[in-house]
Amino acid sequence: PELTRQQMRQSTCPYCGVGCGVDISCNVTGGAVSLDKITGTPEHPANHGRLCVKGTNLLETNDLKGRLLHPTVAGEKVAWDTATNLIADKISQTIAQFGADAVAFYVSGQLLTEDYYIANKLMKGFIGSANIDTNSRLCMSSAVAAYKRAFGEDVVPCNYTDIETTDLLVLTGSNTAWAHPVLFQRIARAKQRNPTMKVVVIDPRKTETCTIADLHLPLKGGSDVALFNGLLRYAHSNKQINSARVATYAQGLDAAIAAAKPWDLSAVAQYCDLDIEDVRTFFTWFSQAPSAVTFYSMGVNQSSQGVDKANAIINCHLAFEQIGRVGTGPFSITGQPNAMGGREVGGLANMLVAHMDIENEAHRTRVKEFWQAPSLCETQGLKAVDMFDAMALGKIKFVWIMGTNPVVSMPHRERVEAALRKCDTVVVSDIVATNDTLAFADIALPATGWSEKDGMVTNSERRMSRQRGILPPPGEAKHDWQIMCDVANKLGYLDAFSYSHPGQIFDEFARLTACENKNERLLNLAPLVGMSQTQYDNFSPLQWPLKEGDDGTLHSVRPFSSLIFPTPNGKARCIAVTPAQPTQRTCKQYPYVLNSGRARDQWHTMTRTGKTAKLHAAMPHATVTIHPDDAKALGIKQHSYAQLSSAVSKEEPCIFPVKLDKGIRKGDLFVPIHWSATWGSHSKLAKLYASATDAISGQPELKHAAVSLGPK
Ligand code: SF4
Repeated sequence: PELTRQQMRQSTCPYCGVGCGVDISCNVTGGAVSLDKITGTPEHPANHGRLCVKGTNLLETNDLKGRLLHPTVAGEKVAWDTATNLIADKISQTIAQFGADAVAFYVSGQLLTEDYYIANKLMKGFIGSANIDTNSRLCMSSAVAAYKRAFGEDVVPCNYTDIETTDLLVLTGSNTAWAHPVLFQRIARAKQRNPTMKVVVIDPRKTETCTIADLHLPLKGGSDVALFNGLLRYAHSNKQINSARVATYAQGLDAAIAAAKPWDLSAVAQYCDLDIEDVRTFFTWFSQAPSAVTFYSMGVNQSSQGVDKANAIINCHLAFEQIGRVGTGPFSITGQPNAMGGREVGGLANMLVAHMDIENEAHRTRVKEFWQAPSLCETQGLKAVDMFDAMALGKIKFVWIMGTNPVVSMPHRERVEAALRKCDTVVVSDIVATNDTLAFADIALPATGWSEKDGMVTNSERRMSRQRGILPPPGEAKHDWQIMCDVANKLGYLDAFSYSHPGQIFDEFARLTACENKNERLLNLAPLVGMSQTQYDNFSPLQWPLKEGDDGTLHSVRPFSSLIFPTPNGKARCIAVTPAQPTQRTCKQYPYVLNSGRARDQWHTMTRTGKTAKLHAAMPHATVTIHPDDAKALGIKQHSYAQLSSAVSKEEPCIFPVKLDKGIRKGDLFVPIHWSATWGSHSKLAKLYASATDAISGQPELKHAAVSLGPK
């Protein structure tokens, strides 16, 4: 018998933006490798050896059951050549007949940086449209727009180590305990070690995260701008803002303070429906804290005023000089493993690669020359919701969806289904053989998944880590970048898409970040240019911005520690913001506010985490959480069923088992996002949401639908 030997490989967990390092012990017998055990990487700076329940059970979800293993056309197995020839023909025909803007890519924060780079290069440089958007639009595009408005560049100015060094941690719109568990554990440990550290949780729901809170502000959903404007006004009235000092590094403070003028304590308490003394306590703590960090995620971003909310937070950090120092900063925590990498390569319809701008002619010329691109896009493309709307109207004729399940995750499911039905050619690349979106695919392409593919991911604190291919591609599966390069070659772009290893793609991207970049943009990976394949394979986690020490070693620099920002005059911008009501407002017919979010043990639409019974144990199915008083008034009992309808769900209501909880505000409801009919849910949550979006970021309002509620 052949001897089995053990081998240790390192990679990164694919489930969230914390970006935990994982050690995988493998059994190698002859040429065959199998994954045996997974533990957290002790030396990885994101997790120091810790994993949450999803990471711990990662190998349980990694089998080949349910995998898509062969390309198919109209459900029939075909050769790769047939599939990619057909895709290239369809793209060419669509461009010839309807123009480049009739082609669209809808991609994913699950893609690795190299995949994302190739998708963006093919669409924006060679197909000639910016119609490439991503499920990250649903996740953090409001945070991106707010950083860009305030700092001139999409730069997250914080590190995870700020958790251990801050005096005040504010978590707003973030159930960190469930959505980013390893970070939550880190906060809990920091608080244990430093009992003077305070934690404030701002959330309409009393979530698990509140277990470590010194103060919980259960504000009315959507009222965040009033709260942070109130904080600005409070500090200004109490002469706690040194305007002259702030003016040396930020502009617009006077206008922001003027916009905040109506928001005194009682106005804030009334508008946000909070206890006035709790509001005063928060304002006092923030304005007196030697250092403060504000974590924010979907509760802020997934809103029709998401960008303003994030800017209201950033305004306070600029005004209180809580930025650029250890233990300070406005910290957007991303949901997906590589949403940040997607941002870096410009994987959103309104961005160009390497933090350059589509609207900037010099940037376009630079990218066009660098790529030797025949037809670089000249204007922004369609953001996710607009993209599917354009499809429904027959303006987009070809769509290629990669690594995401928009039929379940996008708002207004019926509209998304209608769009896919209307579209002439729907191509879906995925690792699974069936899901709600694949049901609409004309062409289905088997992609490699975690543990099979090599590439880079960037976590919430700008730290790049490697995901590593350990197992061979199953069946006929190919890497996403390879599939796209095959199609690009058949479109005639042979020279620009001839890579043999993802390290070559990363090197090209790194060179582009450094191209004519005399540090106008902080995303400058010049020190990583020219890595050999071995160096790329052995890459250790690194945070940008990078600096080379005298001894040649690379280390990270804190963004904005010099208080110089990547704007034309070097100053950050405070933005005058005014609270606005959510778009999907309650009314007599739909009097309840539907909030949605993650459960601790599931991931996205459960195509991976749904495979293991262990992860179903804590929450076996989707429930609707209702305040006991609301339930009583409607005759709804614990563990019975309730039905929800909205203006867009048509006649078919959504039905969920009931969970009563005093931790939810009266008038609010909560349903986790993950379950669909595939996983035994009676309902499709996305049916209830209208496609309301933030006017700047295009991010859908997924925290605030107006619905009716009744017993089933
Ligand atoms: Fe994976 Fe996120 Fe859990 Fe870390 S916290 S193990 S990255 S799911």
